[in-house]
Amino acid sequence: MMAQYLRLKEEAGDCLLFYRMGDFFELFFDDAKVAAACLDIALTARGEHDGEKVAMCGVPAHSAESYLARLIKGGHRVAIADQVETPEQAKKRGGSKALVERAIVRVVTAGTLTEEALLDSRSANWCAAIGEAGGAVAIAAADISTGRFAVIETGGETVAAQIARLNPAEVIACEASAFDGLATTLRPRGDFDSAKGEERLKQLHGVATLDGFGQFSRAGLAAAGGLIAYLNHTAKGTLPFLRPPECSRSESCMAIDAATRESLELTLSAAGTRKGSLLDAADRTVTGAGARLLASDIAAPLMDRAAIEARLALVRRFHDDPGLRDRVRAALRALPDIGRALGRLAAGRGGPRDLGQLRDGLNGAWQMGEMLAGIDDVPPLLAGIAPRLRGHGALIDLLRRALVPDPPVDADKGGFIAEGYDAALDDLRATGAGGRRSLAALEARYREETGIANLKIKHNGVLGYHIEVPSKSADRLMTPDSGFTHRQTLAGVVRFNAPELHDLALKVTQAGAHSLAAEAAHLEDLTQTALETREAIADTADALARIDVSTGLAERAAEGGWARPALVDHACFDVSGGRHPVVEAALARSGDRFVANDCVLSEDSRLWLVTGPNMGGKSTFLRQNALIAVLAQAGSYVPAASATLGLVDRLFSRVGASDNLARGRSTFMVEMVETAAILAQATPRSFVILDEVGRGTSTYDGLAIAWAVVEAIHEDNRCRCLFATHYHELTRLAERCEALTLHHVRAREWKGDLVLLHEVSEGPADRSYGLAVARLAGMPPATVKRAQAVLAKLEAGREKTGGLAAGLDDLPLFAAAAEQEEAAVDMLRAELDALDIDSLSPRDALDMLYRLKSLA
Ligand code: ADP
Repeated sequence: MMAQYLRLKEEAGDCLLFYRMGDFFELFFDDAKVAAACLDIALTARGEHDGEKVAMCGVPAHSAESYLARLIKGGHRVAIADQVETPEQAKKRGGSKALVERAIVRVVTAGTLTEEALLDSRSANWCAAIGEAGGAVAIAAADISTGRFAVIETGGETVAAQIARLNPAEVIACEASAFDGLATTLRPRGDFDSAKGEERLKQLHGVATLDGFGQFSRAGLAAAGGLIAYLNHTAKGTLPFLRPPECSRSESCMAIDAATRESLELTLSAAGTRKGSLLDAADRTVTGAGARLLASDIAAPLMDRAAIEARLALVRRFHDDPGLRDRVRAALRALPDIGRALGRLAAGRGGPRDLGQLRDGLNGAWQMGEMLAGIDDVPPLLAGIAPRLRGHGALIDLLRRALVPDPPVDADKGGFIAEGYDAALDDLRATGAGGRRSLAALEARYREETGIANLKIKHNGVLGYHIEVPSKSADRLMTPDSGFTHRQTLAGVVRFNAPELHDLALKVTQAGAHSLAAEAAHLEDLTQTALETREAIADTADALARIDVSTGLAERAAEGGWARPALVDHACFDVSGGRHPVVEAALARSGDRFVANDCVLSEDSRLWLVTGPNMGGKSTFLRQNALIAVLAQAGSYVPAASATLGLVDRLFSRVGASDNLARGRSTFMVEMVETAAILAQATPRSFVILDEVGRGTSTYDGLAIAWAVVEAIHEDNRCRCLFATHYHELTRLAERCEALTLHHVRAREWKGDLVLLHEVSEGPADRSYGLAVARLAGMPPATVKRAQAVLAKLEAGREKTGGLAAGLDDLPLFAAAAEQEEAAVDMLRAELDALDIDSLSPRDALDMLYRLKSLA
């Protein structure tokens, strides 16, 4: 056994090995230690290997799923080594001592799950692979729990940003590639060959050419190939169901890098939970599939105006018709998750209940189709997807006839095929039932014949059917001519067999075994029949999800008084009465009101410099506007009284370092790296929010950096930008930057107390209220008093020298400075071009060096 174990363990590599022994999965050696710690179960020892005790722990096979879930969550991967023959087969093969043959039948990893218990019903479960070829990079991603499959050509966006958008459970990359830092799993280079990838894709979808799916780059094929090879590896040859790949280019979505996603808490809060995220605040979907689709919509806001308008029109239809919305949502709420049921069936891990879910879900879809066919004013998007709701009539009909109303999860006990579906099965069942009735009759007869009132016919796994009597009455049956054969004596009872019982029992068990086999065969057939139309079933699931997302967003809009955004071609951003949905909800819980604020960015006022006291609401204001852009382009109404937006191609959000201190990175460095990325990437169509950038360093450094960043954004990037700062000195920039305007969050001191109004107004803040905030925060009065004295001294000094920004008046503008720089470079180049080095005397060369140095 140890030899077999070690061979399988070698094959399992870095996975924990679940080794099947009877009713348990056992783990040995280091695996046992790791698993026992992660699962908090007892670690024991068993036998010896190389003179040392072998550590061991085990989990019952019937409840293995919940242990698997915890191991996967703990970041482990598990290889399942199961028995691939029965003990009887092993005996036949190799004699009574033969070891049952075992093999790894599956590798369970975070990205390749289909089990309901291991998955979150409201999140997609992506497994992504990164491929490279010819200098380009692409990502292929599959959610095998539903069959979604996407190939994304990363284009202008970084791979890290794309991965952040998908938020995959597992990332596969080629060993020793540039991306192994992003990956959770490394696979051999050979898997990522683009030519092989093309073959694998064709084979998977049974096509001779991939043209029908769209254009793939070689990198895309390499990624798809790597992914399919990995799925193949984990499923040990049985490839899961993947739908035709959705090809997309990153340009079709608003580009949002990982840092921005994190800072805006789009789909995950800073604490890593769904709660507290924009997604959570917007989500009113009632099905798992709807929740998954909304998450992917919000993670990938669109750039195609027509597609956004189409989504908005559907939301509007449901928004303006509350009666219809309620009916649709009530119907959706009752529907099972057909996408996931299909995924399990396709992966060969489905059971009777999954077929029952298909039956009920498709039937519900049909009824939804009927309901929607009766409405007027059908938006184009709905007209497009409605036909997919109806069309599984034959399958629904078949499953209705074949299955009992409430089929069990597992097939092994049978009882899921309905009566009347298969006459032969009905006969077997009748025999079984008749046999059980005969057993009852036999029991009564034995009682009468023996006079033992509490004689019972029982069944267990070891003896099968047998007769059981209390020990005190057993003597009467022990005589040879009693017709009973002794089988077993226990503390209080004695067990017997008898020829008649034996014959009858055989009939009952055989009928039972045959009907189980018949049911299993039906399950197989029905699954195959359902899978023949899996593409269409998946389309129906998608249609339902889109309807759920639209009605959910309509519900959310109606509930919160959200407005339908108007999209325009020029780069404006005009929001009146905007709110931050997450902060608003948090305030509402404590009975406070959110103060709505306007934000109007236009060609001649595209950069707002927002000043004001700490806690005044600057960050909230910045973020709410970024979130409004995301929601609008995801096709949702927005938390505002009205909004008119030009599409945003790239969204950036950066928060000055000190807010991030808790994360323990070199925060100022991170802040500068991220700010540099914005300056390099933001276009005139982009939207940037910068919150206290420059704060992570000394006052002078920070002010200087903030100053230069604002100038660069204003002059070079020319994007829409909200810049919050506590450097009052920056307000001087308004004099030099014509499209920069000043704003502040209002505050008042009232009877010595600071009142934060959270209202954004025009003009600079009159003062910083820093000491008032300190007092508000509970700083001891003596310390506040001392701070006041220090402040007075500092301010007197500032009056004399002209303040922190003294001397900045004669600083050339950013563009002018850049021009001067360029002119100097041009002159240097001209001088160098004119130089004939071979004709120079040493003396001339030295003169020349002095000259060049003076030019630089
Ligand atoms: P700042 O960035 O200016 O330090 P924040 O945006 O972090 O301030 O806001 C601080 C707190 O003020 C928030 O947690 C919220 O409770 C409250 N707040 C912010 N904006 C508003 C608003 N518009 N209406 C009501 N309360 C607000």
